[in-house]
Amino acid sequence: MPDTPIVTRFAPSPTGYLHIGGARTALFNWLLARGKAAPEGSKFLLRIEDTDRARHDESAVEAILGGLRWLGLDWDGEPVSQHANQERHAEVARQLLAEGKAYRCWLQGEALDAARAEAREANTRFTSPYREGGEEDGPYSIRLKAPLEGETVIDDAVQGEVRFPNGALDDVVLLRSDGTPTYMLAVVVDDRDMGVTHIVRGDDHLTNAARQKHIYDAMGWDVPLFAHVPLIHGQDGKKLSKRHGALGVEAYAEEGFSPEGLFNALLKLGWSHGDDEVITRDQALEWFSLSGIGKAAARLDPDKMKSLNAAHLSALPDEEFVSRALPFLDEPPTDAQRDMLARAAPFLKPRCQLLTDIGPAAAFLLLSRPFEVTGKAAKPLKKEAAGDVLRGVRENLEGAEDWSAAALDLRLQAFAEAQGLSFGQVGPPVRAALTAGHPSPSLGETLHALGRDEALARLADRL
Ligand code: GLU
Repeated sequence: MPDTPIVTRFAPSPTGYLHIGGARTALFNWLLARGKAAPEGSKFLLRIEDTDRARHDESAVEAILGGLRWLGLDWDGEPVSQHANQERHAEVARQLLAEGKAYRCWLQGEALDAARAEAREANTRFTSPYREGGEEDGPYSIRLKAPLEGETVIDDAVQGEVRFPNGALDDVVLLRSDGTPTYMLAVVVDDRDMGVTHIVRGDDHLTNAARQKHIYDAMGWDVPLFAHVPLIHGQDGKKLSKRHGALGVEAYAEEGFSPEGLFNALLKLGWSHGDDEVITRDQALEWFSLSGIGKAAARLDPDKMKSLNAAHLSALPDEEFVSRALPFLDEPPTDAQRDMLARAAPFLKPRCQLLTDIGPAAAFLLLSRPFEVTGKAAKPLKKEAAGDVLRGVRENLEGAEDWSAAALDLRLQAFAEAQGLSFGQVGPPVRAALTAGHPSPSLGETLHALGRDEALARLADRL
């Protein structure tokens, strides 16, 4: 018999951006459903928890979807709107009421606050007096008759067996007195209706899991498998906040992360596979399982994230690297510059931890002629023999048929030998004339990257 498909979901509240904590949750759910171990027919669903209508804004939803798309996390079907399901949520509350598993509670406002405070002070469970009956006029909420005694046990795929004494969990409100469903009810009903089998989310929802289990049990529904992932902390060990730097996926993209790099960095925030650090999307799909999620809070380490990004940038094909890097240049490059960048990609890639590093890495290519050579970089050009060397090299290179880096390096060496010069006398003025002292690869590679016309023109500018 084939295994039952896995159905996961990502259920963000539309806050206006995809928080990296949320992105990690989405990633884990996506991998669980899309990974190699997932049975045929598994799905990754999206649900927008948009019940806060006063603050609702479609662009906030779009920002989240955009972040997911950028990371390459595709979802099945249309995103579900939690708000659109309100009537269905209310129906479940009414069903529980009709079955005697829920009750009407007229304790509202200040009277409710006072009763709750009293229970807190007495260190007892707050239980509404209406649980045992009674009726009043006026607005009421609907509360679940949660178990009074015993324990609620969540068998969590990350946290293990977590036990909640029922005396510490009060009767959850299902429907507010204004008739709107509560978050707790909405989540359970939506997960059930969406056929969700695995709930992977932040461990700030662990207590909610116990309350939600009460609702599942009351309805006689199977409880999905929970996996509560420890929250991400900053380097100081405190809960992630703006102080710790970028929080939205978009900000990471603007900072010069590649989707591959951020995907890897998010994956490593709480999940591991042996000592593997640099992990590709395909490897993640092959290796991911809930058992790789650690119990300890992951720490956001910007340097590590950047070094992972660097590894993924280096692995990109040259052309691909260049087209990703182009938007990060201060000015749009000319076609000739674009070609130069492509030829220099093997030099540029390892110098970019972030795509924003492209400017300084490619500075030697992007100089616009004629340029000045100043400071320390100008020193080799001031030597007496520099003019002759540059003239000789230029003439020699004019005759070069093979403009490959290796051939050019050999040519320069042969030139030095024929002139009775050391390479230390030839190399520095040529490099200064070509690069104005900006970091550059070997002379052969520099000439190759610049291309014949630009290289010869830069040499001529010094004569
Ligand atoms: N909307 C909740 C949040 O953004 C997620 C709820 C859930 O995953 O059950 O934290």
